Amino acid sequence: MLDAAAKTLFHALSRSAALKRLASRYGMASERSFARRFIAGESIEETIAAARSIESQGLLLTLDYLGESVATLDGAAAATREYLRILDVIVASGIERNISLKLTQFGLDVDKATCVDNLRRILEPAQRHGFFVRIDMENSPYTEVTLEIFETLWQQQHHNVGVVLQSCLYRSEADAQRVTARGGRIRLVKGAYQEPKSVAWQMKSDVDAAYVRLMKYLLDQGHYPAIATHDPAIIEAAIAHAAERGLASDAFEFQMLYGIRRDLQKSLTARGYRMRVYVPFGNQWFPYFMRRLGERPANIRFVVKSLLREA
Ligand SMILES: Cc1cc2nc3c(=O)[nH]c(=O)nc-3n(C[C@H](O)[C@H](O)[C@H](O)COP(=O)(O)OP(=O)(O)OC[C@H]3O[C@@H](n4cnc5c(N)ncnc54)[C@H](O)[C@@H]3O)c2cc1C
Repeated sequence: MLDAAAKTLFHALSRSAALKRLASRYGMASERSFARRFIAGESIEETIAAARSIESQGLLLTLDYLGESVATLDGAAAATREYLRILDVIVASGIERNISLKLTQFGLDVDKATCVDNLRRILEPAQRHGFFVRIDMENSPYTEVTLEIFETLWQQQHHNVGVVLQSCLYRSEADAQRVTARGGRIRLVKGAYQEPKSVAWQMKSDVDAAYVRLMKYLLDQGHYPAIATHDPAIIEAAIAHAAERGLASDAFEFQMLYGIRRDLQKSLTARGYRMRVYVPFGNQWFPYFMRRLGERPANIRFVVKSLLREA
């Protein structure tokens, strides 16, 4: 229950314009500023250097240009243009071609058709250059529309696109079958948003148990599933299940967030597992950062220490 309270508080704080202004001023200001633990850089150029360092450790990556809840079509068009530039920089840099994006960044809140058009403008060069594109999952009002857009794109032969399902939602077991039946790739997460009892498990133990059920289903029936969690017990359960089923270590991958459990990221790589790091960047980092604080209020100590050091 404390988990739910912390999530609710941090989601409320993430809407505070004053806090956002303050954090934006200090969070990434210097090499050692507090947001840098979770955000790789403010520009794509800065992020490429971080990406190279991740790859040099044998880790895989996916880049996320942060930005969500865009409220105007102009804003969505600007995000689309910036994404197209980012694709070019990634191609030129030679790092792995794998991105994660959120539909509300492309105008989903304003107009669904425009959002899909914007997405297609990105998918066309992405497909040509061999990118894999993961559509992140936002909170539950967006679940159905996100899956519908994924299915539309899939029917149009955009098979380089995958989705995310959240074990906290009751519907995810049916959704896992729905996406798997089409051949789509799923990233499984617990869920970063505070959701109501009508749609989601409230107890962490229920969310974890649902995760294990979904993880086993995806290892058995899914298409190259991504087990995205920092939970060591679940990771060991996945390894045991894969071994029991005789799955090769490259039949699935683990994923973790930039700056979180780097020790575990390295040890899984050393054990021969595929480990992908989710690398967020850009100057719209505040909501993402607040979700990370809400997941683990102990992170606040770390932020306060960094602020005091800078002061
Ligand atoms: C690659 C990736 C992509 C994701 N994409 C999405 C998405 O599209 N939609 C979505 O809703 N959610 C997404 N998430 C977030 C996810 O839903 C969870 O909120 C987040 O991963 C924390 O849950 P956990 O599985 O690590 O388990 P938890 O039980 O929350 O944590 C397990 C352990 O991990 C460590 N840990 C977890 N979070 C933190 C943190 N913030 N700081 C420090 N340590 C921490 C702690 O040691 C903790 O004990 C993604 C997560 C990952 C790893």
